[in-house]
Amino acid sequence: MSAVMITRKVRKWEKLPGKNTFCCDGRVMMARQKGVFYLTLFLIVGTCALFFAFECPYLAIHLSPTIPFFAALLFLFVIAMLLRTSFSDPGVLPRALPEEATFIEMEIEAANGNVPAGQRPPPRIRNVQINNQIVKLKYCYTCKIFRPPRASHCSICDNCVDRFDHHCPWVGNCVGKRNYRYFYLFTTSLSLLTIYIFTFDIVHVVMRSVDNGFLNTLKETPGTVLEVLVCFFTLWSVVGLTGFHTYLISLNQTTNEDIKGSWSGKNRVQNPYSHKNIFKNCCEVLCGPTYPSVLDRRGLMQDDMPVSATPAAPSSSSLSSSNPVPQTTKTTAPLIPNEHTPDDAKPSIADSAEKSPSPREELPPAQKVPPLASPETDAETALAKDKIH
Ligand SMILES: [Zn+2]
Ligand SMILES: [Zn+2]
Repeated sequence: MSAVMITRKVRKWEKLPGKNTFCCDGRVMMARQKGVFYLTLFLIVGTCALFFAFECPYLAIHLSPTIPFFAALLFLFVIAMLLRTSFSDPGVLPRALPEEATFIEMEIEAANGNVPAGQRPPPRIRNVQINNQIVKLKYCYTCKIFRPPRASHCSICDNCVDRFDHHCPWVGNCVGKRNYRYFYLFTTSLSLLTIYIFTFDIVHVVMRSVDNGFLNTLKETPGTVLEVLVCFFTLWSVVGLTGFHTYLISLNQTTNEDIKGSWSGKNRVQNPYSHKNIFKNCCEVLCGPTYPSVLDRRGLMQDDMPVSATPAAPSSSSLSSSNPVPQTTKTTAPLIPNEHTPDDAKPSIADSAEKSPSPREELPPAQKVPPLASPETDAETALAKDKIH
């Protein structure tokens, strides 16, 4: 019995490594754990449904018909921003091809020389200069790439994400370069919606209490108590979060950089991305260009499957749907530049691309390489603290 290779065309998202889930033929991309995202949806839709059912009819008649109108507008905007953040590619960087990973490993070994057995190899870091500041590009042991500036590996999605901010379970996705502004608009509009509903809940109770008494009002509109409670607790967290992100945007800083203290000045490294001007920083983060997804997840690729050839082997069409082999996606280069990557760091991409033996879609099936270390582990942090020799 011998093995033969059957080639079929599949969408790239079907073969993407990492822990994302896809639906609508790759158009929708989310993290695998979505329980908290459904809770977010339930709380927003549930609270607004109670508001429209119990308060809006009374307020529209006794105060103004514009109250339910603006509530509906705000509600639709919040849901649109939530779905836009949750269902989009946050800026995932494709992993290196096996050939590219091998080449970059050789390049690193050549640069470091032979390390005697028992000695710890030097850290895999490249220094680049951005606006007169030295910024370290760390090597990702899972994705086999030197991460571009500001990128980080999300341990939940198991992908490197460009301009990684944080992984948000409430929206069920990473927040990064491609969906940060929608995330910020979501938190801002949700803050306004919460304040709006909370305020008109109180107005409604006060107006009704004048005629019917406080206890009778609560009996007539039991949803009001629930709404006030949900809004009260949401207010603190969501308004606080919006304030925190407004502060970060004004400094052109990410949550990840803030937590790690990347630009706290302890290494005399100032934030090289800040324009030292709040207005310019806000404009860049909120009104800057939008970036296309580099995953091309709906593109077609060839998938080679080994199948056992027997004398009575079935036809290739009947085999094409059986036993696919896990395969890494062939879409990337070892060092993926972004707009923060200085020019002197980019030539290595061309070098590595030249070493690729054949067009990407024609490469043999990739071997699944187990990660050498989880990228955000203490081991890597320790390595990162060392200096390059
Ligand atoms: Zn990575
Ligand atoms: Zn994530």
